[in-house]
Amino acid sequence: MQRMTKTISAGLIVCLSLLLWAEGGAGAAGAGGSKMPSVRLPGPAFVALETINPDHIRWHVRYLSHDLLEGRGTGQRGGDIAAEYIATQFAEYGLKPAGDHGTYMQKVPLVGITTLSDTTFALIPKQGETMNLKPLDEYVAYNQTQQVLAEVDADIVFVGYGIEAPEYGWDDYKGVEVKGKVLLMLVNEPASDDPKFFKGKALTYYGRWTYKYEEAVRKGAVGVILVHQTQMASYPWEVVRNSNSGERSALRVEGPALKVASWIHFDVASRLASASGMNLEKMMQDAQSRDFHPVNLGAKLKAHMVSKVRNFESNNVLATLPGADHKMAEEAVIYTAHYDHFGIRPEMPGDNIFNGADDNATGCAILLELARAFGSASQRPRRSILFAAVTAEEQGLLGSEYLGKHPPIPTGKITLDLNYDDVKPLGAPEEVEVSGAERTSFYPEVEATAKEFRLAIRPDARPEAGHFYRSDHFSLARVGIPSFSINEGMKYKGHPESWGLDQEREYVEKHYHQPSDEYHPEMDFVGDSAMARFGFALGWEAAGLPKRIEWQKGDEFEAARAKSQ
Ligand SMILES: [Zn+2]
Repeated sequence: MQRMTKTISAGLIVCLSLLLWAEGGAGAAGAGGSKMPSVRLPGPAFVALETINPDHIRWHVRYLSHDLLEGRGTGQRGGDIAAEYIATQFAEYGLKPAGDHGTYMQKVPLVGITTLSDTTFALIPKQGETMNLKPLDEYVAYNQTQQVLAEVDADIVFVGYGIEAPEYGWDDYKGVEVKGKVLLMLVNEPASDDPKFFKGKALTYYGRWTYKYEEAVRKGAVGVILVHQTQMASYPWEVVRNSNSGERSALRVEGPALKVASWIHFDVASRLASASGMNLEKMMQDAQSRDFHPVNLGAKLKAHMVSKVRNFESNNVLATLPGADHKMAEEAVIYTAHYDHFGIRPEMPGDNIFNGADDNATGCAILLELARAFGSASQRPRRSILFAAVTAEEQGLLGSEYLGKHPPIPTGKITLDLNYDDVKPLGAPEEVEVSGAERTSFYPEVEATAKEFRLAIRPDARPEAGHFYRSDHFSLARVGIPSFSINEGMKYKGHPESWGLDQEREYVEKHYHQPSDEYHPEMDFVGDSAMARFGFALGWEAAGLPKRIEWQKGDEFEAARAKSQ
């Protein structure tokens, strides 16, 4: 028996004595102090929180990462079995379906595109010879219109970074008409140490290549050519080549799209610039200036795009717990975790099942345990709680992108998204990572709750790597919803920080996105349980706040939030 205190909103102190299971003895703190922390939750919520159990999480992970689920591939049998399992759990917990036509499933239409070898890609400079580029060595290209054939014969305009960011007073386009053009641009964003200018060293979404393609489409361009430079991209050409060969998946296109979405090797870009009477280094320097103006190279791209187009589908699994307050119940807190992984690679010798135990059976298991705990509470939070197990994260956050575009309730009414992705079963954490939370009006509550759970908030070690843009919460942030992921930091109970860092390094080197990311009985899910409890407390608090959560003033997602209201 342990003794714990909590405060309720009225400011009363209530003492509860609850039996704790041996394994989860670290309790809500996760860090394992002898005293339980106080949590600012009403009694019934606290009771429900206390039922969150590492073994429940273990059992879900064990099942979801079993070989019989064949790596939970998107659009594959194993992925569909996982979705059905999750839906069945939601039903058992008494949650209401929030998918299509009164079911738990939200159909996500997907398209696989493979650029075929009949494709040709030629740069035709003002002077000199046509440059017929070699696929993979000199360029990679996809036709995002999802048509089998496309022809492009258009002027190439250099648009610097291709960024229009009013909040930083930056506009590379300067109102120049680029409709029907092919836009040559740089990856990343203008260099800066000033935190008020493109967040200093941190990468903003404007620096990601996905943004650049999207902005070009909004401007009516037919194609984009990204200039690869290792330092600016933060990865070598091989990464561009590997991630752009073979089939690429996308949501079925719903509007205009690029006929050519491409990268060229730096040396090719240099040759093109010279043949256009320019100098690439000088162009890159010019692009650093606020006064940059688009430059028509006088060169053309002539491309004949031949693609294999494969339609398939998968499902997001959605459930809801209606809020207790009849007015606020039309608003919601949403929890997300992706359930897909890479499936099976039949051509691979040896173990070829990508079980994805850590990535992301752990996140799904936490999502399910949260759903169970919320469903079991004798009192419901004021706002509704949505649970979304999303698909096709490994294909580029596609399930969550679809969810953001087709939410079961309007995005403006969703106050917060809490996401879980790859929460390592390594024991009791003493830190929590909530990168992005500091950008929202909810941060004071996050800090206070972390303190009560005796979890130190660990800042993002490498904001310049742009991890914020690489998991599902980002899909919801970009439609305006205040969103962040919850994960453990590096410091675990009974170990120095270096141990946590070693575990992380070993995972990335040996198991990340490999068949060896598998379930082992020795795994310790106490940390997953602590993260679930922490997220439970945050979600319950967010669901009861008088006002909806917002992004901080000047945040890159503020405009999307305003638009959604
Ligand atoms: Zn992954």
